[in-house]
Amino acid sequence: MIRAVVGLLAFLAVGAALFAGAFWAVENVRWEEPACPRGVGHGFQDLRWLEDGGPGPDATPVERLLDRPSFGATSEAAGDLRGGVVDERLVQALLTVTGEHSVCVQVFKEGHYFLPGVEDGPVIPDGYGEAGGLTNTHYFGRAADVRWIDGRPVGGNGTDPAVLGVGRALAAIPPEERPDQIIGPRDWTARLGYSWEHGWITAEDQLDLHDRHIHIGYRDEEGTNNTR
Ligand SMILES: [Zn+2]
Repeated sequence: MIRAVVGLLAFLAVGAALFAGAFWAVENVRWEEPACPRGVGHGFQDLRWLEDGGPGPDATPVERLLDRPSFGATSEAAGDLRGGVVDERLVQALLTVTGEHSVCVQVFKEGHYFLPGVEDGPVIPDGYGEAGGLTNTHYFGRAADVRWIDGRPVGGNGTDPAVLGVGRALAAIPPEERPDQIIGPRDWTARLGYSWEHGWITAEDQLDLHDRHIHIGYRDEEGTNNTR
């Protein structure tokens, strides 16, 4: 009898220890990417949760961006950042924007498709609005698609203050550093009121194609075409 009780107590003690250990682990792991919706994000793959003080003084812009709780990315997008695929100007623009709002990037290059089932290449395929034949800035790591801002989807929230705030944060970047291929939902574009001189694309077919995300890109390998 006594042996049975001791055995039971030992069993319970081991169980409690295991439970506490598991709970500690859950408490200390960032299961979710805070800037991305549940189920989206690279949080568990990178080991940010092991660090104490954040990025050191020698951290690269990419490391600083990945470390920022207000920046989220799918595993493909985070992989592009770590792999050095993403243009430095775009990394800087995202550092600026995530200083004011949380942003979840769905895609840079890896996993981007203009047309379902059609492999992306250096040129936008025919059939993608009037843009067919133009340079595919995603392919060259010069473009990001942002699908969630401050936890809300861009789709259906074009006039949400946070979604507009990202547009204004972009517009506040000096013209020579600001992306010159900024495309978003129709109501977002109309409310902000910026033109091609500021880097905004307002072509009707492109607004239709960007009703659920904001595309932030650089048209050329260097510099920008912004005049204001
Ligand atoms: Zn895009």
